[in-house]
Amino acid sequence: MSLRKLLIANRGEIAVRIMRTARAMGIATVAVYSEADAHALHVETADEAWPIGPAPARESYLKIDAIIAAAKASGADAIHPGYGFLSENAAFGEACAEASITFVGPPASAIRAMGSKSAAKALMEKAGVPLVPGYHGEDQDPALLAAEAARIGYPVLIKASAGGGGKGMKVVASAGEFADALASAQREARNAFGDDRVLIEKYLTRPRHIEVQVFADSHGNAVYLNERDCSIQRRHQKVVEEAPAPGLSPERRAAMGQAAVDAARAVGYVGAGTVEFIAEGEDFFFMEMNTRLQVEHPVTEAITGQDLVEWQLRVARGERLPLTQADVPLEGAAIEVRLYAEDPQKDFLPQVGRLDHLRLPDDLPGVRVDTGVRAGDSVSIHYDPMIAKIIARGADRAEAVGRLAAALAATEVVGLPTNRAFLAAIANHPAFTAADLDTGFIGRFGADLLPAPEPLDDRTLALAALSILLEEARVSATATDPADPFSPWGLAPGWRLNRAAHVDLTFSDGGARLVVRAHYRARGFALDLPGGTLEVEGRLEADGTMEARLAGVKLRARVVRSGMKLTVFAGGTERLIEFVDPRRASIDATGTAGRLVAPMPGTVIRVAVEPGQSVQKGAALVVVEAMKMEHTVTAPRDGTVARVLFAAGDLVDEGAELLVLEEAG
Ligand code: ADP
Repeated sequence: MSLRKLLIANRGEIAVRIMRTARAMGIATVAVYSEADAHALHVETADEAWPIGPAPARESYLKIDAIIAAAKASGADAIHPGYGFLSENAAFGEACAEASITFVGPPASAIRAMGSKSAAKALMEKAGVPLVPGYHGEDQDPALLAAEAARIGYPVLIKASAGGGGKGMKVVASAGEFADALASAQREARNAFGDDRVLIEKYLTRPRHIEVQVFADSHGNAVYLNERDCSIQRRHQKVVEEAPAPGLSPERRAAMGQAAVDAARAVGYVGAGTVEFIAEGEDFFFMEMNTRLQVEHPVTEAITGQDLVEWQLRVARGERLPLTQADVPLEGAAIEVRLYAEDPQKDFLPQVGRLDHLRLPDDLPGVRVDTGVRAGDSVSIHYDPMIAKIIARGADRAEAVGRLAAALAATEVVGLPTNRAFLAAIANHPAFTAADLDTGFIGRFGADLLPAPEPLDDRTLALAALSILLEEARVSATATDPADPFSPWGLAPGWRLNRAAHVDLTFSDGGARLVVRAHYRARGFALDLPGGTLEVEGRLEADGTMEARLAGVKLRARVVRSGMKLTVFAGGTERLIEFVDPRRASIDATGTAGRLVAPMPGTVIRVAVEPGQSVQKGAALVVVEAMKMEHTVTAPRDGTVARVLFAAGDLVDEGAELLVLEEAG
C-alpha cells in the first residue's frame, strides 16, 4: 500500500512530532487547522495546511466531514489522528475507510470493543487477563450497585464506563457515602460522555499505574515494547511518566507484557496501543486499553531506540512489525514531564494567554523536547494548555532524574504561570529520586511540592538591577551615529557621558517599594541593597543571557522583560519583580545634547506635541515602545517644537531623531 501523503488530524506537539517522522520517511505532510491556529507551529511545519473551521474543537478538529474533505482535496492517502480529538472515535476510522483513506490506527471494531471500560473488562475476563475485583455488569440499578460495592468491600471506586480523563470517577470510603457519590459520578458521566453507566472497582490505596506499550501488525504479529510507570498523578491524571517501571522484575515485565499482548489479540488489534494496569504488591490488574498513540510514548522510544510513529506508519502500509519480541531492546531509563500553562498556586487552574518568552531545554544532553508552540504564541481556551513535553534519558534512572532536574531548571516561560517549579520539586524530591512511587505521591508530598513563594533576596534584586544597567549601557554604546563616530551628538543618547555618580532604580515587589542605588564604578557598579552593598558587573549576550559577577562570584542568569515586569531566571529558580522607574533620567539625557532620539529600536506609540507648540522642560514629547517597555522622551529644556519627524505607529531605528526642539528665546 502506498503512503505518500499523510494528513495529521491534530494540532500542537503531537502533530509536529508526527510530521517529523513522516518527513524522515519521505512522506509529505498535510496539516489541518482551526481559525485559532492559522499561524501555529504545526501549520508552519507541514508541507501544506488546510483550514477546517472555527476555533472550538467540535467545529474543527472534531469535525469528521471537514477533515475527510481536507484529506480528499489535498490528495492525502492516510490520516493520523494523534491522540485526543478523534483518535479513539470508531466512526472516524470508518469514515476514512469509506473515503478510501488509510486510518493510522486500529480497526474500528477494536476501538469499539475497548471504548467501554465495562465491555472491555468483560472481554478481558474471557481472555484470562487479570481484573481488579469489581462489578462491570449491564444492570445499573442503584440498589444492586450498592450491594455490589458492599460485596467488593470499601473503599471502592466508581468509574464511568465511557470514561476518560478521570471524569465521572469517585472514590467512596463507606456505604453511607455511596448513594451521593453514585449520583455525582453519573451526573459527570452524562455531561462528559452522554452515557451515565458506571462500573465499580475495589479502590487500591497505594497502587502504581503501570502500562504496557503494545504493537500489532496486520499479519498476526503482536509484541510489547516494555512498560511505562505513570504513578505520579494529580487527580488521577498523569504528571510524570517513566520507563522502565522502577523495580519491575524481568519475570513480572514478561507476565504483564504477555497479558497486554493477549488483551490486544482478544480484540483483533492492529497498530499502537497501550494496556493500562494498576499494580499493587506483586499483583497487577487490567484497567483499560487506549487504542492510540499515547502522550507519553517518547519514554518508550528513548529506552527502545525505536520510533513508534514510524512503526505506526509501517503497519498502516501493511508491513510487518520491525522487530520480534526477543529483539525489543530495553536500554537505560527515561522520564517525561508535561509542562502545562496552569497555576499550581490556584489549584492548578489552566491559564490562557501569550507566551512572551519561551526557552525549552532541547540543547541539553539526553533531553528531548516535544512542543507545538513558540515564543509569541498564545495558549488558548479552546485546547489543552500543554506547552511542552520534556523527556530526559540516561544510562540509568539516576542519570535520567538528574538530567530532568537540569532540564527543568533551564526551562523559562514568561507570560503565563506554569507548573515548572512544581515539576522541578517532584524531580528533586528524595522520594522520587528513591523511586518510591505510587499514585498517592502528590497527595502525600503536596506540601513539599508547592513551596510558598520565596521572599525577594538581594541576589535577585541585584540581577534585576544589573540587567537594566547593562541594557542601558548597551543602548548607549550602540547609539553612536556610525556615520559620524566623532560627533559629540553621537554619544548623547547615553547617560554615561553626563551621568551622575549614581542612579536610583525603583522596584516594586507585591506592593512593597525597593530602591536600589547603583554607583558607577570603572567596571560595573556598586549596588546598595537591603542586605548591604554589593559590587556587581556583567555582560549581556546577544541571546539575552547575562553573565554576571556578584561580589566576584560568576553566574549565568537571564532577565526577561514583559512590560514593566522583570522575570529573573538564575540557578534554576525564577522570580518576578516589577520595575517602577522607567529611567526618566536617561531619556532626559537624550535631549540635553540637542537631538531627541529614539533610545532603542521600537514603535512610536504616541506623539504628544505638534509643530509650533511651546513646551516646558520635562514635558512628555514622544512615547516609544521598545522591548515591551514604554519610554517617554521628555523635553530637556524649555523650547518650541520645530518639527515632528515621526507619527504614532511608525517604526524607528535606534538613534533616529524623533523631533526637533528649538530653544526658547
Ligand atoms: P481514565 O480513563 O478516566 O483516565 P483510568 O481507568 O485510566 O481512568 O484510571 C485513571 C487513574 O485512576 C489510574 O491511573 C489510577 O491512578 C487511578 N485508578 C483507577 N482505578 C483504580 C483503582 N481500582 N484503585 C485505585 N486507583 C485507581
